Amino acid sequence: METTIETDERPRVYLETYGCQMNITDSQLVAAVLSRAGFASAARPEDADVILLNTCAIREHAEERVLGRLSDLARLKHRRPELRLGLLGCMAQHNRAALVEKAPYLDLVAGPDAYRRLPEMLGRAGFDAQVDVRLDRAETYGDISPAHDGGVRAYVTVMRGCDKFCAFCVVPYVRGRERSVAPEDVLREVRELAARGVREVVLLGQTVNAYRFGDVDFAALLRRVAAVEGIERVRFTSPHPSDVSDAMIEAMATEPRIQPYLHLPVQSGSNRVLAAMERGYTVERYLELVARLRRAIPGLALSTDIIVGFHGEAERDFEETLALMRAVGYDQAFTFKYSLREHTRAFKLGDTVSEEEKSRRLAEVIALQESISLERNRALLGERFAVLIEGPARRGNGMLAGKTPQFKTAIFASARGLAPGDTVTVRVDDATAHSLACSLV
Ligand code: SF4
Repeated sequence: METTIETDERPRVYLETYGCQMNITDSQLVAAVLSRAGFASAARPEDADVILLNTCAIREHAEERVLGRLSDLARLKHRRPELRLGLLGCMAQHNRAALVEKAPYLDLVAGPDAYRRLPEMLGRAGFDAQVDVRLDRAETYGDISPAHDGGVRAYVTVMRGCDKFCAFCVVPYVRGRERSVAPEDVLREVRELAARGVREVVLLGQTVNAYRFGDVDFAALLRRVAAVEGIERVRFTSPHPSDVSDAMIEAMATEPRIQPYLHLPVQSGSNRVLAAMERGYTVERYLELVARLRRAIPGLALSTDIIVGFHGEAERDFEETLALMRAVGYDQAFTFKYSLREHTRAFKLGDTVSEEEKSRRLAEVIALQESISLERNRALLGERFAVLIEGPARRGNGMLAGKTPQFKTAIFASARGLAPGDTVTVRVDDATAHSLACSLV
């Protein structure tokens, strides 16, 4: 008997993602664009006809990592010259000229507003690299539903770009100006996700609470998303402190599906440094905002971003940052050493803090945050929380993991019949700085 072996003739794409959640969601968007155009996905670079790296330009070491990875992949291309190698995302936008020079084997360089044109770019034959880094003030990809990875939580991009131009940041240059996705497109995507079993959505944007489409502001969008049937939890990231409105606080305080957790980037605890960073608020205004949020939303958890070693940061400024961290008592902090980024306003100011000193300051903020996180988590011993089950705990042993409303990781023993997407009540038995050991009640 003759056997027919069915082969999938579609070109296969391997996509690798660097950087923030925005990039992970953009990769899902690229996967959707390419799948519509007839591409299949490859699990390994060795199996691919096209390899795309979706890159990040926020920090210098992110760019160095991508360049290292590119030279590894160039070896594959050397063995198989028909393999197409492309770079997407912020680094493509930031460094296109240098990239084509440093990595002449690149076939394609596409900025964050060029993803719709990828099939066309890949379809073109020839020896010259296809470069498309046009920024487009209208592009929101609102009509394209990203390829969701199947978990209980999904990230939904509701706005792109940024108009804030903080002195240290490349985002406005590489992702362009602020634009919001039409509310009906956001809601269509959220409904599709709910129908596929997603229980929690995280609305995503560089300054997500600057969202505005016609007369729909961010608070109105939050309420509409929270009303979608099947969605149990709504979160968002990252809001800018200057764009927090009374209506947003009111929505968080009164709509039970909007979870009591806020990532509120502060960057520094010194007014001098905040002014140099052009952040648009003072320490006093930030603390007043934190107090208002905590008054309105009981049990609110807060996390933040902190940069150490910005231009001109003296020891006294750094100590003010430590003092602010203690005053707020963040549940979590994402901490970074400042690195100069070309094209930004701070680039021409240069670096005033040595690498060694930046490392010392970073170690100090990390150690302080660890002790604050531990103290805050230990204060929860004996308390009960509703946890949305995500799946097996990373360390296994039959344990399950999920998040509390405050976005803390809860780990507990599995029980018969429990599955990802279920919500259970747990009691906190023990805590580290990073997770809560719980039991089912
Ligand atoms: S608000 Fe500032 S730090 Fe955030 S993306 Fe915009 S420019 Fe960058």
